[in-house]
Amino acid sequence: MDSRLDGRAIAKSVRTATRNAVESFSAHADPPALAVVLVGDHPASASYVRGKKRAASEVGIQSTVHRRDASISQHELLDLIRTLNADDAVDGILVQLPLPDHIDQYAVIETIDPTKDVDGFHPQNLGRLLIGTPQFVPATPAGIMVLLERALDDLAGARAVVVGRSNIVGKPLAALLMQRDANATVTVCHSRTRDLAAHTKAADIVIAAAGRPNLITADMVSDGVTVIDVGINRVDDDSRERGYRLVGDVDYDAVAPKAHAITPVPGGVGPMTIAMLLRNTLQAAQHRRA
Ligand code: NAD
Repeated sequence: MDSRLDGRAIAKSVRTATRNAVESFSAHADPPALAVVLVGDHPASASYVRGKKRAASEVGIQSTVHRRDASISQHELLDLIRTLNADDAVDGILVQLPLPDHIDQYAVIETIDPTKDVDGFHPQNLGRLLIGTPQFVPATPAGIMVLLERALDDLAGARAVVVGRSNIVGKPLAALLMQRDANATVTVCHSRTRDLAAHTKAADIVIAAAGRPNLITADMVSDGVTVIDVGINRVDDDSRERGYRLVGDVDYDAVAPKAHAITPVPGGVGPMTIAMLLRNTLQAAQHRRA
């Protein structure tokens, strides 16, 4: 049986639902508007921003990219955020990470108006998620929950192992999995975890978000496991024109035959992240202009 969980197809269905909802919304109001702040000329960041802009336009969300040089001061960047906060025509604000080293990323995130924080990284939104009254859920964990709902009838009581404890993936995902509407039993593993394999082997669900190619191998999982591979890693590949290929954290070919369901990289979590960001932007517009 094919265990491949097709993130592209599932993301497409989420985007179609969002496009239909945006169409109804825009019938009697200006379309939802997203402001994207891009600092510096990091090629991966520029490419992510292009992808988000294209996807927004496809569902009828209007987006504006505010590009700033990497030399921008923190003060100037915070001023830009405050201007966007005060602009009634802006529903959602997204600051593409990472930011240059001289800028305090947390100061920037905390300056975003929480009601426009479509990435869900503001402490108020992360706090609300933790206490079970979420407003904006970070897009990658939200997308992972949709993938899990498609793969499994019920998460209640399932043993879920999250590998990675970042603020943007691991921690919010653990919070979502343990909420009352999911009811999974959650273990969070990280770089200091002893015997990672013992945890993953005992799991019904493994979510790998460490950014380490081949971290999860076939001998580390049990038959019937559901695997979500969040990792995006570049590995050298001379056979490709660009000299590298993208892989996840999981040895897909060896793990897939054992798995009930598994996401590929690319084509798994990545498309879901963008789809959920668009959904959050629509939600911001609906909420702000209700
Ligand atoms: P991060 O670097 O902030 O965190 C990595 C986490 O993995 C840390 O908590 C660390 O403790 C843990 N870790 C590292 N090595 C480990 C090991 N050997 N064993 C167990 N745990 C280990 O990363 P992040 O921002 O959460 O991203 C993780 C990966 O997911 C990256 O590859 C990133 O590119 C990818 N990512 C993908 C999407 C998407 O949309 N598909 C979105 C966000 C991040």
